[in-house]
Amino acid sequence: MPKHKKKSDLPSKICIQCDRPFAWRKKWANNWAEVNYCSERCRNDYKKRKQNTKQDD
Ligand SMILES: [Zn+2]
Repeated sequence: MPKHKKKSDLPSKICIQCDRPFAWRKKWANNWAEVNYCSERCRNDYKKRKQNTKQDD
């Protein structure tokens, strides 16, 4: 065990919209596994981007 305890040993993820890392927050305590965006704004932007990108499969 490391003697030095890190100040921020919270889990973190990479936002799938802006590709920036973001740290765990209390408001995500119940659904951290489902959180993919750093912010509400990124979530909205990602949805918009998806709508604009039509896939012709
Ligand atoms: Zn983001």
